Amino acid sequence: MMAATSSVKILLIEDNLAEARLLQEFLKQAQSKEYSVVHVQRLKDALKELTRDTMSCLYDVILLDLTLPDSEGLSSLVPLIEYAPSIPIVVLTNTNDEALAIEAVRQGAQDYLVKRQVNVDVLVRALHYAIERKQVLESLRTTNKTLQSRVEERTAELVKAQEINQFKSEFVSMLSHDIRNPLNTILLAAGLLQNNDERLTNEKKRSHLQMIRAAIKNMAQLLDEVSLIGQADSGKLPCEFISLDLEAFCRQLVEEAQLTIGEKHLNVVFSSMGELDGAVWDESLLRHILANLLTNAIKYSLPGGTVRFEVIGQEDIIIFRIQDYGIGIPEKDQKRLFQPFQRAENVGSIPGTGLGLAIVKKCVEAHGGDILVDSTVGVGTTFTVILPMLKL
Ligand code: ADP
Repeated sequence: MMAATSSVKILLIEDNLAEARLLQEFLKQAQSKEYSVVHVQRLKDALKELTRDTMSCLYDVILLDLTLPDSEGLSSLVPLIEYAPSIPIVVLTNTNDEALAIEAVRQGAQDYLVKRQVNVDVLVRALHYAIERKQVLESLRTTNKTLQSRVEERTAELVKAQEINQFKSEFVSMLSHDIRNPLNTILLAAGLLQNNDERLTNEKKRSHLQMIRAAIKNMAQLLDEVSLIGQADSGKLPCEFISLDLEAFCRQLVEEAQLTIGEKHLNVVFSSMGELDGAVWDESLLRHILANLLTNAIKYSLPGGTVRFEVIGQEDIIIFRIQDYGIGIPEKDQKRLFQPFQRAENVGSIPGTGLGLAIVKKCVEAHGGDILVDSTVGVGTTFTVILPMLKL
């Protein structure tokens, strides 16, 4: 940018030495400013000079003869603009070249001068005009860029808002669907009990009542899970960090999880390594994480299989690894399973809401940790949770 007090720095590209000298002479005569001129005769020397000028501060303006030995006409203009996009260019033409000069202005030169008509005033005015015009253009370009990036930001925000909206309506429709199922079961079982009261054996009655209880339990669990996700989304997961005997806590979770094995005859193996004590944990977050992963490992295991649960203390982190040899998760499903209501395509008739992993992920995040999944269909699945050992 041209400072008011310093000299105007000009790169003159002109192969004709007499004409170059004449222009320099004019500039010396100019009263209003001081001009310092670097003169080169070839386009390639000019480009070399501009490559040196990485900050675009060595020159305020370029004076370019359109007939150079190593470049003819407008072909000089393109590389110059490319090398020094912010330096204004004034082209010099012969009398019969005016059409070419106008085309040069169209293609990015700021002004043109017909050599024969040049005098001190004309030259000085053209140079100043070119510098000013380029500055206005540059500031317009900056404003344009700022506006463009604002528009992009706003568009991204709108897209995000739309995604959230869509996500919310999907969430609501999945939830209604999942609530309607147990409600139907309850209606059906209650209807059977009411209409066939005399004809039903006690055993049948008990079985219908059992169905009703299971359906209610199912709905209550669903609502608990949904409200947990809601709390996490609004940043209101209650956290209370206390010191914990981590090993005993994990063994207790294994025992509880074993109750869900049913008739499958699974072997749940727990092991621990390294230093596990000395950190504080939110018991409820930790329970949500580990209990969900353990019951999933059991639920998606094949009968007679093994589930391994390892806890490893490593400097300032604890690694929880839960491994099964069950049905596995198709690769394309693995990422989205951490979103609510998402289930893999190979679950068959294994029951589930698709909320467990979403809860696990939120709780892991609330604890400042990370979760990874490694799974192969038909081979098995390993979930690894890495949590920092928080100190009070
Ligand atoms: P769900 O109630 O369906 O078990 P989750 O959110 O806990 O919901 O899990 C989401 C999906 O991830 C499951 O439906 C299942 O497809 C897949 N999944 C989770 N854990 C396992 C696992 N250990 N083995 C195979 N698939 C799993």
